[in-house]
Amino acid sequence: MLKKLEKLIKKLVDHDVEIEMDDEFRYDVDDGGTIYYTIDEDFNTECNIDWKEFLAKHYNFDLTEENWFVLSILHELGHHYTIEYFSADEWNKMCTMLKSNDRKKVNFDHFNKLNERVATEWAISYYNANPKEMKYFCSKINAELKKIKCANT
Ligand SMILES: [Zn+2]
Repeated sequence: MLKKLEKLIKKLVDHDVEIEMDDEFRYDVDDGGTIYYTIDEDFNTECNIDWKEFLAKHYNFDLTEENWFVLSILHELGHHYTIEYFSADEWNKMCTMLKSNDRKKVNFDHFNKLNERVATEWAISYYNANPKEMKYFCSKINAELKKIKCANT
């Protein structure tokens, strides 16, 4: 099941970028670029609920149970394709999280950072430009995720 999921994600990102399972979604520029993903998260985390609100407000994009995993991968792929716009210094600065007790403010400040916005914009453009493929990946990937979750409970 994990093998099948990994194959699908590889096919989705389709390029010279490595993918690796971890405990969160993130992009690491080292070693030519690696996308880390997690199968432990689901659509209803606080961060995803905020992301949904942010995407609806700024991009008129509807993040759903069906597409959030694919869009999360595409966002990390967006980092891969836009990281060249930033110097290492700028990048590192943007990766430091702001301190705040307000969870929502932290999330929104994070989504609003320039490197995050360009990655998200890349992801949404790609998603919208390839509706057929995205539908395929959303449905295939969700089916695998469901199988994995059922097997683990
Ligand atoms: Zn990001």
